[in-house]
Order: sequence, then C-alpha cells, then structure tokens
Amino acid sequence: MRIDVVPIRKDNYAYLVVDPESGTGAVVDPAEPDTVAAAAAGVRVTHLLCTHHHPDHSGGNAALAERWPGLEVVGSAVDADRIPALTRAVGDGDEIAIGALRLRTLAVPGHTRGHVAFVGGDALFCGDTLFVAGCGRRFEGDAAQMHHVLSGVYGALPPETRVFCGHEYTVRNLQFALTIEPDNAVARAKLAWAEARRAAGLPTVPTTLAEERTYNPFLRVDVPAVQARLGTRGAVETLTALRRLKDAF
Ligand code: ZN
Ligand code: FE
Repeated sequence: MRIDVVPIRKDNYAYLVVDPESGTGAVVDPAEPDTVAAAAAGVRVTHLLCTHHHPDHSGGNAALAERWPGLEVVGSAVDADRIPALTRAVGDGDEIAIGALRLRTLAVPGHTRGHVAFVGGDALFCGDTLFVAGCGRRFEGDAAQMHHVLSGVYGALPPETRVFCGHEYTVRNLQFALTIEPDNAVARAKLAWAEARRAAGLPTVPTTLAEERTYNPFLRVDVPAVQARLGTRGAVETLTALRRLKDAF
C-alpha cells in the first residue's frame, strides 16, 4: 500500500492511498479537488473516503464525483444527509475494497456524531478524532464517548499502527502538552523535531499509536501525573478538563 500525504487548505491533510499492483486508489478527505486530482495523476481512483461532514473534509466530494464518474463516495450512514455526493453509507466494521487493498471502517463519534475512521494494513486514517499530540474538539458527542474512541477503539489497534490525521496542529499541540507535563522529555524532543519539520515545509504525519501514548495528553488521561496536574479523578473527568483547557489555549 502506497500512501501519499497531500497538504491542502491552510493546515488540512488529504491522503492518496494506492494499490501498487493494480494502480487503483482512494482519496481521503480531498477537500481541495484540483490539488488532490493533480496528486492522483496516473492513479485510477475508485473511492473517496470521507471521515466526517465538516467542509474542510467533505468540501471536495461533489467536484470529484463529477470529475471521476463512477467514484464511490464513502461516508457515515449516521450523517448521510450531511455528506455531499455520498454513494455508500457505512457504519462500524464495513469493508472497502480498493484494488487488492482492504480497508475497514471504525465508528468513532465525538468530534461529530457520524465520524468514521478507515483502517487498512498498518495505517489509520482518523480525520479529526486524533491528531499528533492532540485530538479534535468535541462538537457532537460527550467525553465518555470520546474517551471510548481514543482509548478503547484506537487502543484495540496494534501499537505500531501509523496514524494519518486530518490536520497539521502538531507544534501547537505539543506546546499545550508541555503545559500539562512540563517534564515530559519525549514531548519536548518531539516539539523540537516538529518545529524543524515545519520550518523545512515538511509534514509531521504520520505518527504511531505507540508514540502518541508517550506524549499525547488525551491518550494519557489515566496517567497519575496528568490527573494530579489537573486535580481530576478518573479518565473521563480528566479528558473533560483537558479538552476545556485546550479549547481555551
Ligand atoms: Zn472536523
Ligand atoms: Fe477538520
């Protein structure tokens, strides 16, 4: 499986996923149609995988459905009325065949009620549910749901899973993470690395789930030092407090 990172808009990432054998592929959240179509030159794109309805993710659906006749536009059944040009409504555990590749859907509500992630091989396309060193705002779900997604659903995936997320927020997220865990040396080193990457115009994706567990505060809500810092008890209460602080950061 080949995965190309396609930076779009101000700080979004679209992705091109290709089955090298057949030259068949899929695009993930291609909200800037011309840029993504150019990146996909030479690939027969059969699927558009839409993580959620927000326009910075779904805003290219209609234009690409028109440009590539027969394109399967895959998105949440829960949000079928909010995802433009949807042709295949999915839930949890649905399989998508792209050439010889097999991807599986995960229902991951919280940021939006119908958010879905796509997992295939060692790659996870998680939209706005999880970022490098952070996670998306909770617009349409509760904290318990968000905790279930981050620690339960993603926690059940192999730790070496590579995470391809929807935005480049890494530097700011790590600055926030260091306000929660000032002595976290891994976070500090990752911040220096991320700043260098960004200065060179390079993305900080992908990350891995294992790596995220070492510095991403939203995956560390069960760590005593994090709870002590926030004066909270229990993972969900800690996640609620973290999200509130991050929203104001
Ligand atoms: Zn979003
Ligand atoms: Fe977004």
